[in-house]
Amino acid sequence: MPDKKTRVKKETSSEKKAARKLVMDLHIHTLYSIDSESELHEIIDTAKEREIDVLGITDHNTVEGALHMKRIAPDGITVLLGQEVKTTEGEIIVYGLEETLPKKKELLETCRMAKERGGFIIIPHPFDRMRSGIGNRMLDILNYIDAVEVFNAHNRLGHFNNKARAFAEKHGLPMVAGSDSHSYEEIGFTTNTVVAEPEEKSILNAIKSGNSVMVAKKSGFKYNIKLGIIKLKKKRQLRKLKKLRASASC
Ligand SMILES: [Zn+2]
Repeated sequence: MPDKKTRVKKETSSEKKAARKLVMDLHIHTLYSIDSESELHEIIDTAKEREIDVLGITDHNTVEGALHMKRIAPDGITVLLGQEVKTTEGEIIVYGLEETLPKKKELLETCRMAKERGGFIIIPHPFDRMRSGIGNRMLDILNYIDAVEVFNAHNRLGHFNNKARAFAEKHGLPMVAGSDSHSYEEIGFTTNTVVAEPEEKSILNAIKSGNSVMVAKKSGFKYNIKLGIIKLKKKRQLRKLKKLRASASC
């Protein structure tokens, strides 16, 4: 029989876990990505300000940013561990894993690997060919797809998003929207709401059952430009670092 103290603790934690309406930003890049400079605390502060309950951290080819965010996120913010993995056919987002999947493997192989480890797969900006969308290759991995990003706030041409939505509707796949935030100022432009417990499994189940509602708003063109500048800047920094390391090892 648990003592009073334990009971109170248990009651409080189950209270915390009660299902409620959650506002989620499912596609966020941090400074762990090659094309973002967003500090984790800036993302948290913006999320608090804009009343975002769930942060899906999806850095390019690494889960490190998401793990770091999970360690420091304050009470009231649930972090989904994600990574946007580059395959030879384009990008996929994998949630629910604590390990980073290898990049540049074949699409099917990556999906198999992700599923074997218990991952949840969302296809980001599938028909945006300029941004590594996998397009109709989705047909090869239909059974592995848990949801399709049918609205990406960075897609400048509505056509890309429309095609993604038509594909998801045709194949009966759950739909989500992604802010694809590379700057913390973009957090919450595009959100999804679900009624779920504020924890990973419950949230992913709710998305899978098609119960999320999108609130889609395009981010301004200035963020596309900013993204390009950050990419160049960080690539330059990396090249410098490489040279420095090479000269240090001489
Ligand atoms: Zn992205």
